[in-house]
Amino acid sequence: MSDETGAIKKTESGPFVHLCEEPGCKAWGGFGFANGSAAPNWYCFAHRIEWPPAKRS
Ligand SMILES: [Zn+2]
Repeated sequence: MSDETGAIKKTESGPFVHLCEEPGCKAWGGFGFANGSAAPNWYCFAHRIEWPPAKRS
């Protein structure tokens, strides 16, 4: 039995609540990305960025 259709939690209470940082998106930000010493950014599955970042040449 598998009902894991995504990383969205329903009403799970916990200290680690972070939603997707994409403007307008209220999905659960299950993917955290820390860039250097900056605070990590959280994104949902749909908006998660490419990681590790592709090198720009
Ligand atoms: Zn999102």
